[in-house]
Amino acid sequence: MDHFDYKNGALAAEDMPISDIAEAIGTPFYCYSTATIERHYRVFEEALAGLPATICYAVKANSNVAVIKTLADLGAGADVVSSGELTRALKAGVPASKIIFSGVGKTRDELTHALKENILQINVESEPELQVLNEIAGSMGITAPVAFRINPDIDAHTHNKISTGRSEDKFGIEWTRIHEVVKAANSLSHIENVGLAMHIGSQLTELEPFRDAFIRLKDVVTILRADGHKIPRLDLGGGLGIPYDTATTPSPAEYGKVVAEILGDLDADFLFEPGRLIVGNAGILVTSIVYAKEGATRRFLILDAAMNDLMRPSLYEAKHDIMPVSEPNSGANLERVNVVGPVCETSDTFATELDLPSAEAGDLLAIRSAGAYGAVMASTYNSRALIPEVLVKGDAYSIIRERIEPDTLIKYENLPNWNS
Ligand SMILES: *Cc1c(COP(=O)(O)O)cnc(C)c1O
Repeated sequence: MDHFDYKNGALAAEDMPISDIAEAIGTPFYCYSTATIERHYRVFEEALAGLPATICYAVKANSNVAVIKTLADLGAGADVVSSGELTRALKAGVPASKIIFSGVGKTRDELTHALKENILQINVESEPELQVLNEIAGSMGITAPVAFRINPDIDAHTHNKISTGRSEDKFGIEWTRIHEVVKAANSLSHIENVGLAMHIGSQLTELEPFRDAFIRLKDVVTILRADGHKIPRLDLGGGLGIPYDTATTPSPAEYGKVVAEILGDLDADFLFEPGRLIVGNAGILVTSIVYAKEGATRRFLILDAAMNDLMRPSLYEAKHDIMPVSEPNSGANLERVNVVGPVCETSDTFATELDLPSAEAGDLLAIRSAGAYGAVMASTYNSRALIPEVLVKGDAYSIIRERIEPDTLIKYENLPNWNS
């Protein structure tokens, strides 16, 4: 459920008409709804009631400081994957004691940053990383709180490019070797073993892969504990999917039930790292039609938004719902169109053979479910601007990231001195 609905014949985010924002700041722009972000967080929290759980929002889904702060104000922690995200989470007011640092390739600088800030835990994904972390922590005279990320070799049945828990994926330590690695870590004097972590992929639309992975995790915990390792904490990652077009997805409540059923009696503290689930449906991309063009076999709606603004369709063949900002009359004529951006690539396509109420140049469209992995993945390809992000609360909006113009970026470019 989200808070983007037609009100008085026009699409509104909560009580704020989208066309008013468009008029004030131009298009394209991302628009997020505070009430939707808050609602999704609470639903997830309720789904885990009864478990000793901390929700660490996966910042990479939408890392705008205002979005992170909205969640921090509700008590969320953060899961970060870079030094930059750590800086954002701290700036948004997430306490260091609720921050997890994940990722396969943390640099020495990043590990040092994490240790200096005294964050909750660092999820280690390989033995070389463990060695480096032990060395850095030693040089600082401290111990590093480490969770070992296991790769459970479970297929998440999601898009190949966002599957992370199969043996051929680069993530985590093979579950069959985890015992050996944890044992060896015992002799590293600057590593504190705080538990295990897992994250098998993103946009999961079935519970079965979670169930299989949790069962495997439980087996590993049981073996490790029998050998004297405490394993006080289990980080179960994120990955729960959202309905983008018509697909159904398991509810957070059903997910919570599976967690409780399989892992609830393990006497561990739980961490969760949802990203998409919290912010995905809390954002839309608002765009105008630049031209309506009759091709030889298709009608094209050419937008002022492009693949550089929202990469998911071109990167993952993702389908996003598209709706007119002006509410169509019931029984409005539908036209079969391809909705495309202006970038010089055929992959710059948001929808193919979509039946949309007739639309003309100048009309506004909303591309839905664009709150996660939207703005954060934007580039300036074709020397296009980084578009603004707007946060709505009730009948007010705030520009939480200004448009960054090509002029600003060009200022960072220099001619080599041999040209002058
Ligand atoms: C990306 C990621 C998440 C968030 O995934 P969602 O599908 O957005 O919930 C959580 N944990 C880790 C380690 C990740 O890489």
